Amino acid sequence: MSGGGGARRCELCELVRSTRWYAEFHEPLRFTVLDCDSCDVPMAVLGEHRSTVTDDERTFMAAALRAVGDALGLGELTFDDRMRQIPDHYHLHARPLPAWWPRPR
Ligand SMILES: [Zn+2]
Ligand SMILES: [Zn+2]
Repeated sequence: MSGGGGARRCELCELVRSTRWYAEFHEPLRFTVLDCDSCDVPMAVLGEHRSTVTDDERTFMAAALRAVGDALGLGELTFDDRMRQIPDHYHLHARPLPAWWPRPR
């Protein structure tokens, strides 16, 4: 227990514009694509506070990240939704594949 008795703060709900923002989506799903503060790669943050998304929602967020990755020239991306720091608010990282990664041809 620490701090006052208010609602728990969630960094991803507050989503301070401290990094570069690429896009905000409202339909069919509310989410924002921005640079992750700690990883320095683009990530998609769900516009509502829940820990999971449907397959369709994940596909949509990944497609938006891929478009941003293409615009940035990041090349092949891998999508990482292991949420270590904020496990209860869904977010999806787009990580460029390392040079040694076996590429599908
Ligand atoms: Zn949240
Ligand atoms: Zn990150």
